[in-house]
Amino acid sequence: MKPFVVNVADLVYKPGARRRERVEGRLPGPIIVVDSALRTEVPVVVDTVLEWVSDGLLATGTVEGAWEGPCRRCLRPVQGTLRVDVQELFESTPRDGESYPLGHDRVDLEPLARESLILDLPLAPVCSEDCRGLCPACGADLNAGDCGCPPATADVRWAALDVLRLSGEE
Ligand SMILES: [Zn+2]
Ligand SMILES: [Zn+2]
Repeated sequence: MKPFVVNVADLVYKPGARRRERVEGRLPGPIIVVDSALRTEVPVVVDTVLEWVSDGLLATGTVEGAWEGPCRRCLRPVQGTLRVDVQELFESTPRDGESYPLGHDRVDLEPLARESLILDLPLAPVCSEDCRGLCPACGADLNAGDCGCPPATADVRWAALDVLRLSGEE
């Protein structure tokens, strides 16, 4: 049986019935958003309370996973963890984008895990908030110290372009 498929026969159509369910397993990858990716070798943990509400099964809890990606400024590899609060409804007739499918006596928490982690992956990971990044001129990692390039290189280049543009307009 798939790790995220949960038998809910004891909850379906039983108003007020609730149960905590904690499942973990690996999500098939790759799961990538811009530069960061879910670490598919690290188990994803879905820890929820499942509860029968008027016409569906409500899952309230957390989804946890781990990600990795290059620092946006210095390109060194960075890793981090994700912990996403979720509250989602499973219905026998799911509404697109609003609820997940409820089977006869089971639910598959995998799409919920996948979609909540995708939304929480960092778009622009940084190794630290004060990462100094790479020198735009020589590519040296400025976290290791100054490379000696004149700091205003880029500004000078743009200033020269401005002069050209101005003279061209005359
Ligand atoms: Zn960095
Ligand atoms: Zn440099």
